[in-house]
Amino acid sequence: MLLPRLLRSANTTSRSFKQIQQIKAQAQNPRSFSSQWRLQQQLAEDDMKHLPDIDPSKLEVTKTITPKELVPNQDLVFGRTFTDHMLSIEWTASQGWLAPRITPYQNLSLDPATCVFHYAFECFEGMKAYKCPKDNSLRLFRPDKNMKRMNGSSARIALPTFDGDALTKLIGEMCKLEERFIPSEKGYSLYLRPTMIGTQRTLGVGPPGSALLYVIASPVGPYYPTGFKAINLEATDYAVRAWPGGVGDKKLGANYAPCIVPQLKAAKRGFHQNLWLFGEEEYITEVGTMNLFVCIKNKETGEKELVTAPLDGTILEGVTRDSVLALARERLEPKGWKVSERYLRMKDIAEAESEGRLIEVFGAGTAAIVAPVRKISWKGQMIDCGLKETEEAGEIALKMKGWIEGIQYGDEDHPWSVKV
Ligand SMILES: *Cc1c(COP(=O)(O)O)cnc(C)c1O
Repeated sequence: MLLPRLLRSANTTSRSFKQIQQIKAQAQNPRSFSSQWRLQQQLAEDDMKHLPDIDPSKLEVTKTITPKELVPNQDLVFGRTFTDHMLSIEWTASQGWLAPRITPYQNLSLDPATCVFHYAFECFEGMKAYKCPKDNSLRLFRPDKNMKRMNGSSARIALPTFDGDALTKLIGEMCKLEERFIPSEKGYSLYLRPTMIGTQRTLGVGPPGSALLYVIASPVGPYYPTGFKAINLEATDYAVRAWPGGVGDKKLGANYAPCIVPQLKAAKRGFHQNLWLFGEEEYITEVGTMNLFVCIKNKETGEKELVTAPLDGTILEGVTRDSVLALARERLEPKGWKVSERYLRMKDIAEAESEGRLIEVFGAGTAAIVAPVRKISWKGQMIDCGLKETEEAGEIALKMKGWIEGIQYGDEDHPWSVKV
């Protein structure tokens, strides 16, 4: 099965006659599977080199003739309404990335046998565009991080990779076109959803021969319209979100559907979100679609420590997580804080609480920036995360939100804020 495909592939790419003869000779030589696999890898790598990448200069724009009415700011619901246009870029194994197109927002038409519907060839990103009130410039927050992560996700499920700077440039073009959907008030932004799907029409389980990368955009308001609201979590000990060697560190659609039932179960018992634990030791990992931060006082030294789970492949590498860590190292460490990426057990949190050493807990992600946590339910025990009855957020969560928002809206000049 492998051989004819190798030969076909050898004939269709732009190699010299001599190279093709070499590849054919290699392929016809009865060898072990691993050498054939290496050969296929080499062909795939060669193909990547020869086939066109995303080319922003080829962008074709078709503007809508029926612009949507803007939803009043206070009625915006996350991910419910979308802008006038979408960005689409098709890819085929033989032609590479085709010319990018911005078109009116519209339905996709796909054959029921398309591989995304059967084997979950899908990955996505979540990022935002902000309008700076000072000069009305449009800005993206660390888009290079999203592009790198998306390439990591797509490569893991045999979808094509792409030039992240080129896609960022195109997203910028789309943001400019949709500018009227982005208010400049703090808390408002344009949520961007780059998505890639395998589009080959086949029930065969294999690498998709074609793909579609598209970007849709949804205007969003503040996550907490009436100010912070601390959330209560239920620690989930009967199901796991991700495991070593798995794909928990990739933004694959397939990672999210299985999280809904535990989330519903927690909601039924009155909790906003469930907290994912891992292993016998019950290490804390993530909460919903956010990374988790715990502020704790050291038992012996009394030193304050900001702790989050290490990137061991089971944790989504949040852009917000990385930003919180960097800001903490820059602005909290000089004030005596210790910043750690390390394992923390549920038991350690419970112990810190009982000894009065648990200072604060918060989630971190693009949607809310930070989500303060009031209580965690664990094995019938209710852990109080340190907020006063009258408080909705702790000091560190508030500081982080202020610092990150300041950069996102251009109050503070910072290399993380990229003008489009
Ligand atoms: C997207 C996501 C996050 C947060 O990532 P950000 O880049 O900070 O938005 C955290 N955990 C999971 C499971 C996610 O899907």
